[in-house]
Amino acid sequence: MLPRKSLFELPDGMIYLDGNSLGPLARSVPGRLDQMLRDEWGAHLIKGWNLDDWMGQPARLGDRVGRLIGAPEASVVLGDTLSVKVFQALAAGLQMRPDRKVILSDTGNFPTDLYMAEGLIKQLDRGHALKLETPEDIAEAITAEVAVVMLTQVDYRTGRMHDMQSISERAAEVGAVMIWDLAHSAGAVPVDLTASGCEFAVGCTYKYLNGGPGAPAFIYVRPDLIEQIDPALSGWLGHAEPFAFEHQYRPAQGIERMRVGTPSVLQMTALEAALDAWDGVDMAELRDASIALSEQFIMQVEARCPELTLASPRDPLRRGSQVSFAFDEGYAAMQALIARDVIGDFRAPNIMRFGFTPLYLDADDVTRAADILADIMTTGSWDQPQFKTRSRVT
Ligand SMILES: *Cc1c(COP(=O)(O)O)cnc(C)c1O
Repeated sequence: MLPRKSLFELPDGMIYLDGNSLGPLARSVPGRLDQMLRDEWGAHLIKGWNLDDWMGQPARLGDRVGRLIGAPEASVVLGDTLSVKVFQALAAGLQMRPDRKVILSDTGNFPTDLYMAEGLIKQLDRGHALKLETPEDIAEAITAEVAVVMLTQVDYRTGRMHDMQSISERAAEVGAVMIWDLAHSAGAVPVDLTASGCEFAVGCTYKYLNGGPGAPAFIYVRPDLIEQIDPALSGWLGHAEPFAFEHQYRPAQGIERMRVGTPSVLQMTALEAALDAWDGVDMAELRDASIALSEQFIMQVEARCPELTLASPRDPLRRGSQVSFAFDEGYAAMQALIARDVIGDFRAPNIMRFGFTPLYLDADDVTRAADILADIMTTGSWDQPQFKTRSRVT
């Protein structure tokens, strides 16, 4: 299965440890996009919706993404951005538990997930509250007053990974609806949504799935629940018959009711081509390779960079596919590293973050990255003004 490095366009000499934030360009994408632009949009114009089945793309891609996260056919659909999909899942989850008022999440969750919950609570104005616990204490906080448990499986800062199975079971025991955000799980670790029994899952496709900047998000709904959902974002493409142009909303049969408006066909086409790189990939094998790379990096960095403190769990089974180190001058150190063509990123206040993506990274890359990091730290070459000016995106 591995390596598949030749399937990706990676600049010569660059070691890319940021596929957890934005995956690289798959070689299959430019040709497919060019063909789509010329032969579909260019030649067919509006006929493309039928002729080239642009309209079927969100559900077709849903099945392909679904295979990577243990979801059955017709339970996943693509569209919008992850923030929007979080909102939809939360709104549906709260509707399923009208007598409960608590949304439970953890303090490690990505801000947009929490912000979307805040916005929904304000909009509903029915006395809901967002309750945050530390990730370590989350299981005990899942009680019968909780309407919805909303967690991101892998912490974007530290890489700490929740046990999806036991937490989903705990939520089910007390009758809480479980929503998993798989932003840092899809394409990174094996996920079995069916086995987890969770009600909803959401995620994005521009990180480990390499769909490109602005690639569409996905939403999963447990198949037995789909027909009960009355979508909060009742857009026309989630309607049973969009082209009947009725005055009143009627949800579509099946997962397509989670669609909202016109799909981003160019982005979906890029994603569809990028997903070819995943054909035949065994997620368990990928996970083993990712653990080997991250263990190697931790060992090599800790041996030579005493200034850096591991901020990720030491047990690889409790980590996703990233490794984070804490360092007070982490921003400058990361900029110095990027200037040497080793690309990771920085998350406030002090986290240097490195993603491990075995589809296009191997042990030599990891050794080279650790060598360069050790050089920057031992020479102190990070300590220069040009590495300390913060850009808009860190
Ligand atoms: C990356 C990420 C997002 C991003 O949301 P967008 O709407 O796609 O910008 C949201 N939630 C989590 C947990 C993420 O890691």
